[in-house]
Amino acid sequence: MSKQPEAQRRAFLKGAGAAATLPLLGATAGAQANAPQQPWDREVDVVVVGSGAAGLSAALFAHEAGANVVVLEKGPTVGGTTARSGGVHFIPNNHLLRASGTTESKEDFLRFIVRITYPASYHPDAPRFGATEAEYALLETFYDEAAPAIEALEQMGAVTYMPMLDHNHEPFNDNFVELPENRCPRGRSIVCVPESIEEGRFYYNGGGGLGVDLIHLLRKATAARRIPILTRHAVEDLVVNGDDEVIGVVATTRKGTVRVGARRGVIFGSGGYLHNPAFRRTYMRTPTYGGCGIPTNQGDFLRLAGGLGASTGNLDQGWWMEVLLEEAIQSSDAPTGVWVVPGDSSLMVNRYGKRFCNEKNQPGGRPQTHFVWDPVAVEFPNRVSMMIWDKRAVELFGGIYGIQKAGEPLPKHVISGTTLAELADNIASRLTTVAQHTGDMTLDPNFTTNLQSSVEQFNQFARSGKDEQFRRGEAQGDIGWHYYGGVPKVDNPYPNELMHPLSDQGPYFAA
Ligand SMILES: Cc1cc2nc3c(=O)[nH]c(=O)nc-3n(C[C@H](O)[C@H](O)[C@H](O)COP(=O)(O)OP(=O)(O)OC[C@H]3O[C@@H](n4cnc5c(N)ncnc54)[C@H](O)[C@@H]3O)c2cc1C
Repeated sequence: MSKQPEAQRRAFLKGAGAAATLPLLGATAGAQANAPQQPWDREVDVVVVGSGAAGLSAALFAHEAGANVVVLEKGPTVGGTTARSGGVHFIPNNHLLRASGTTESKEDFLRFIVRITYPASYHPDAPRFGATEAEYALLETFYDEAAPAIEALEQMGAVTYMPMLDHNHEPFNDNFVELPENRCPRGRSIVCVPESIEEGRFYYNGGGGLGVDLIHLLRKATAARRIPILTRHAVEDLVVNGDDEVIGVVATTRKGTVRVGARRGVIFGSGGYLHNPAFRRTYMRTPTYGGCGIPTNQGDFLRLAGGLGASTGNLDQGWWMEVLLEEAIQSSDAPTGVWVVPGDSSLMVNRYGKRFCNEKNQPGGRPQTHFVWDPVAVEFPNRVSMMIWDKRAVELFGGIYGIQKAGEPLPKHVISGTTLAELADNIASRLTTVAQHTGDMTLDPNFTTNLQSSVEQFNQFARSGKDEQFRRGEAQGDIGWHYYGGVPKVDNPYPNELMHPLSDQGPYFAA
């Protein structure tokens, strides 16, 4: 991060919203807890902020480099969003790939990663493939450091890795397999080997571990090295000396404020800003409702670093998934994300009753179709959209990403109708109950007829096996993501395993 001039720094604080800046100013102005000359309550070489994968691995590496370390965690538990995650590491040229005989050169990886991260400036013959020096340096660092970091974690006995295996027990294919620039379509995705296998819990094929398993291993490794992890320690302020060096932090605990000195440095691994509504509103290009990240991720680092004049970037980016509207309205800490629209007799439509994407396209990519702007209607036509499914989907895919379980009462977010027309009426009524959260969104007057046509057309595509509109099921990634998370393979007599006609008979359902 580079330093910003004072005027920019003030502009940042203003832009971040008054509510967001209050704790920082309060701590400074009130108890002077951040004054450099005050005594420390505790002093170590390195303070690590946050106990997710970033924080715990930073703590381990700092310890291995000879530092004495403390980890401060704002939440009541260890693990952050990482402990809720799929735990899949995307590591170019990793040691497991190399052991299987595949070497991914730096040039090949950088060509591919610039192509997908900066498509508007990418050119295969341009210097740095079209990326700026700073962008390229970041991507180079990723290639240079990611695989050695993983190997180092193995060497220190903290984590052992295995390939992430798909539903066919093959190494999981990357997104963008079909791009010619992707010369390593399988094997970058790796997962930890869990310490033990619990009955009844999901693991990747072959017993690959999730984020919760990774955190367990990292936590065990920190405990073995006697690195303290102090939960309910929210870092609210930084202590800066006369040379503008950060020499410690101020954390709020249940017993009051503590000052922790850092002789050699402070490392932030404190996650994103998902649960800071002011930051979401400021930085996201389209209004969003929340997500599945840990609720203590409120952009504290952004606030503190911005307060010191650090410049930041890429804040409008995310790894996107749909959330169920009624759940997300209750709390931005949404329990269910829609990785892909589940089922084969299911589709997604907008307020016009029209499909607008390949429902099986990868999370991260597909959900960006919700951000399309219609300058004539002055609206985001796809922002709030409807998943539609039938009884077959309930029987075969119940319980997955919003589809109700067969034989159980309908969850609050599920809307039903005996016909598509009745379903449309019930969606319209439901929308009136959430109008203050949707920008007063209503269904277009042609929604019902369009929905009927969309289903009819989808059914034709399902019978022929070819989705002529959005090519659902054609990319290998569609198939990988459809089955991700242990989704069962079901009998489907039609040629495209991700498409089955919706029943001619209701009931039909929506969320
Ligand atoms: C359902 C789901 C599945 C995912 N699956 C994958 C996947 O398979 N692969 C992948 O690469 N990514 C995945 N992600 C994204 C991934 O989980 C995150 O990008 C990653 O875990 C971030 O790790 P982190 O250590 O930076 O942050 P976190 O794990 O969120 O840890 C940050 C920690 O910092 C703490 N903190 C925040 N502010 C302060 C403060 N002021 N003081 C002290 N502590 C603070 C938080 O409480 C939190 O514990 C997934 C995300 C979700 C929600």
